[in-house]
Amino acid sequence: MTLQALTILGATGSIGASTLDVVARHPSRYRIHALSAHERVDELADCCRRFRPARAVVGTAAGAARLRERLADMPVVVEHGPEALAAIAADPEVDTVMAAIVGAAGLEPTLAAARAGKRVLLANKESLVMAGELFMQACRASGAVVLPIDSEHNAVFQCLPAPVQARRADTGASGVRRILLTASGGPFRRLELAAMAKVTPDDACAHPNWRMGRKISVDSATMMNKGLELIEAHHLFGLPSAQLDVVVHPQSVIHSLVEYLDGSMLAQLGNPDMRTPIAHALAYPERVDSGVGTLELARLGRLDFEEPDPTRFPCLRLAREALEAASGAACVLNAANEIAVAAFLEHRIGFTRIAELVDATMQALASAPAPDAIGAAIELDRTARARARALLPS
Ligand code: NAD
Ligand code: MG
Repeated sequence: MTLQALTILGATGSIGASTLDVVARHPSRYRIHALSAHERVDELADCCRRFRPARAVVGTAAGAARLRERLADMPVVVEHGPEALAAIAADPEVDTVMAAIVGAAGLEPTLAAARAGKRVLLANKESLVMAGELFMQACRASGAVVLPIDSEHNAVFQCLPAPVQARRADTGASGVRRILLTASGGPFRRLELAAMAKVTPDDACAHPNWRMGRKISVDSATMMNKGLELIEAHHLFGLPSAQLDVVVHPQSVIHSLVEYLDGSMLAQLGNPDMRTPIAHALAYPERVDSGVGTLELARLGRLDFEEPDPTRFPCLRLAREALEAASGAACVLNAANEIAVAAFLEHRIGFTRIAELVDATMQALASAPAPDAIGAAIELDRTARARARALLPS
């Protein structure tokens, strides 16, 4: 067995920690070559002691100085900033890159991995929402293989026939009628609209089934997460909006489904634990232990399904509109959402203002064309952030 060398972008996050957990179970298969973190320098230092990477990258020069000091007795090269992130993503010594930075900050290093032809384990859905077309093009040009980490897309990938997987998951004419993404409905699935205006960041981050970073937790509570995932699915699997659906499934046991022309529906089930999709992508096409236990179906008893409520979850509609617009709307939606979620987490705006702010920003920039290059996507992201910020209370 050859040892796979890995870079983990966003090693101190929720996905980063789950990835390190799986890697630690298989020392003869995986070796950590590089790790990154933004601000949590001390946590990254602990990870470096444990996994002994050759390179480590943090957000600032001060953070890098502190990390060097903490790791003075180790041969690790410490750097900082976006260029260093791109460099560890494209490092010739690396086979596989786990892209687990949150938000638009993940685009450039993830793209660097794609351009360098790496096996890209893609958790950072925001990079596909911002520039999906360009990202997938870069993968095709370099021969990079993208393996989805988002549990829904990983489930869909697993339910596709092997020849389609080998063509990098483009469903094309493979007999797929539609893809059905499951959504837990988040912590406010049953909450009335009036009460939603008063929820706190901690309420929004108390997800019933998953432990995740705060940004994606808020996205799950607004259901923007499912909206971003529709756009992600469109780019990963090459299907139009009309063949992509969402069903609410509160137990988060069926991670998603593929429906075929003959009426067959294939689903992937498992305990809600991100180590399953991570282990799947790390070992693909083989299988390895992830540390996740058996799903006890009899104990579970039942699985429930319902339609998402468009009135209480307007973000789902906004994302659908962005997906269907032949413009830069998805990039604008993502940027405005990041600003709105950060403002909500800082108690500057109420929960229901998130969707309103995204809507208003999308309307203001409705004429922005679809970015035709990565530079244009980054520029549009910047413009949309400034627009959204201008709409915040001072
Ligand atoms: P998190 O907040 O727990 O961790 C984010 C990581 O990104 C941290 O290591 C942080 O240091 C790094 N980071 C943050 N801002 C940065 C910046 N400006 N520059 C460089 N690095 C930065 O987030 P998470 O929950 O692990 O999510 C990571 C990504 O995976 C997101 O795109 C999310 O949508 C996706 N995802 C997460 C889950 C989950 O279960 N947590 C599931 C599906 C998809
Ligand atoms: Mg998901």
